[in-house]
Amino acid sequence: MSKRRVLFLDRDGTINVDKHYVYRPSDFEWVPGIVDCCRAAVAAGYDIVIVTNQSGIERGYFSEADYAVFTAFLREQFAEQGVPILDILHCPWLVHENRKPNPGLFLKAAERWGIDMSASLSLGDKSRDVQAGVAAGVGRNFLLAPGVVEPTATAVLNSPTELISYFEQID
Ligand SMILES: [Mg+2]
Repeated sequence: MSKRRVLFLDRDGTINVDKHYVYRPSDFEWVPGIVDCCRAAVAAGYDIVIVTNQSGIERGYFSEADYAVFTAFLREQFAEQGVPILDILHCPWLVHENRKPNPGLFLKAAERWGIDMSASLSLGDKSRDVQAGVAAGVGRNFLLAPGVVEPTATAVLNSPTELISYFEQID
C-alpha cells in the first residue's frame, strides 16, 4: 500500500473566513470555494489534515475548551458536506516548534499517519503557512492571498478552486 498523500490546510482565512481569533461556532463562515476544493482533493485520493496556529489560547482570548468546541463544530460542518477530515492539529503557543512558520505540526502529522510529504500539498493564506510546508518537505505549497508575492510558494491563488488543477489522480 502506498503512503498517504495529504492536502494540508490552514484553518482561519483558508477554511473559515478570518474574523480575528475565531472560536465561536456562530462566527463560522466558509471561505468560498474551499468545500469544492476539498471534495476534489478527496476524489483524487488525498487525505485532508488541518494544521492551525491558535495563539489566541496563550493570549487568553479563548480557552482550550473553547477551541475543542469549535473544532468539533468544524468537523460537523465538513461531515455535512461529505468531506472526511483525517486529523486536526493546533499550536496554542506563541513561541514553539509547532507554531508556523515552524514545521512541527506538519512533521507530527507525517509521523502519526505515514504521509508521503513530497507527494503532498498545502494551502494557507499567510506566508508562514507556505514556509512551514516547505520546511516540512511538503512537495507543493500554495498561498491563498491574491496579489501577495511569496517566492517560496508554488503558486499564489485567488480561490481554493484553483488548486483543483494541481491534484494528481492516485492509483
Ligand atoms: Mg490563516
